[in-house]
Amino acid sequence: MVKANAYGHGVDGVAPFIEPYVDAFGVALVEEAIHLRRLGITKPILVAGGTLPEQVPLFAEYDLTLTGSSVELLDIAEQIARQSGKRIKTHLKIDTGMERVGVHEYEAEGLILKAAACPHLDVEGIYTHLANSELGDRSFSLLQLERFQEVLHLYERLSLPVPSLRHVCNSGGILNLPQAHFDMVRPGILFYGIYPGPEVERVVEVQPAVTWRARVSYSKRIRPGRPVSYGSLWQAEAESRIVTIPCGYADGYFRRMTNRAQVLIRGKKYPQVGRICMDQFMVNVGDDEIDIGEDVVLLGGGIRAEDLAEWAGTNEYEVLTSISARVPRVYVRE
Ligand SMILES: *Cc1c(COP(=O)(O)O)cnc(C)c1O
Repeated sequence: MVKANAYGHGVDGVAPFIEPYVDAFGVALVEEAIHLRRLGITKPILVAGGTLPEQVPLFAEYDLTLTGSSVELLDIAEQIARQSGKRIKTHLKIDTGMERVGVHEYEAEGLILKAAACPHLDVEGIYTHLANSELGDRSFSLLQLERFQEVLHLYERLSLPVPSLRHVCNSGGILNLPQAHFDMVRPGILFYGIYPGPEVERVVEVQPAVTWRARVSYSKRIRPGRPVSYGSLWQAEAESRIVTIPCGYADGYFRRMTNRAQVLIRGKKYPQVGRICMDQFMVNVGDDEIDIGEDVVLLGGGIRAEDLAEWAGTNEYEVLTSISARVPRVYVRE
C-alpha cells in the first residue's frame, strides 16, 4: 500500500524502488494511481477507495484495477469497457464489518451475479477489509473472516468460479490472522517498518524505514523567567541553552506536542520547550554546548513513531502521513 505519499515516505522514491519486489500496488484514490503510472509503474494498481462514476473511464485509460464496490459501479465500468474497447480489471469489495466501501456479505449475491454478467470486465479479485486487526482480541476479525468465507461459499452454490485473488489482511491481519492470508496481503504500515499497535504478534521482524532529521539553526543561552515562544507556556528555572530547530507544525511536527516532545542530539534526548511554531521549535539542552549546524533526530533511533503518536494523542499512521511536502525526502541505499 503506497497511498498517502507512501505513508509519508515519498511515493516517488518508494514505488519505483519496490516495484521489482511486489506483485501489485495499492492506493486509496484514482489520482494516486495515475501518479504511479506517470512515475512509470507498470504493475497492477488497485484503487481501494471509493470511485465516482465519472472517474471510471480513467481505469480504462490507465489500466487501473477498480474496487468493484457496488452493482451500479460494475454496470458503469462494463459500459465504459465495452465502448472504449479496453477491458477494466476489478476486485469485488465485500463489506464484512467496516461499514465503509463495499457490499455487505448478506447482499453479495447480487454483486457476484452482476460481475458474472459483465463480459468486458476482468474480475480478478475479491476482498474485504478488517476493522480491528491490530487488537489482541481477535473475535471481530474472526467474525469478519467468517462472513467473507460465506461469500466465497456462495460461488460454489452459484457454480461460478471464485476470482483468483482473494485477500483480507492489512498489517494487523498479516501478523494476527495467518489463517486469513489467502492469495494476497496488503501491508501498509508494517511495510514501512512499524507495527500496527502494541497488541500484534511480532511474527515478522521489521525496522522503521524513516529517520526524520533537522539541524540546529540557532543556539543561545537564556535567563530564567523569560518565557520561550508564543503564549509564554514555558520558562527555564535556571540559565539554560536553548537551540532552535527549523521545523514546525507546517512540516507535520504537531503543535499539540508542545512541551511533550523530545529530540535526539548526539544520541542524547532533550525536551522540546515552548509552543511549537509553524516553522520552528525550541529545545532545552541545559548546560550542554550544542552549536548551530548540529544534527537533530526528530524521529528515528530512540525516538519511535509510537512516541510521537503518544505526545500528539494520535497513532503512528497519522504521524507518518502528516510529514508535509516541505520536508525533503532523501533515499539512502545501505
Ligand atoms: C490502508 C489499507 C491497507 C493497509 O493498512 P495497514 O494497516 O497500514 O497495513 C490495506 N488495505 C486497505 C484497503 C487499505 O485501505
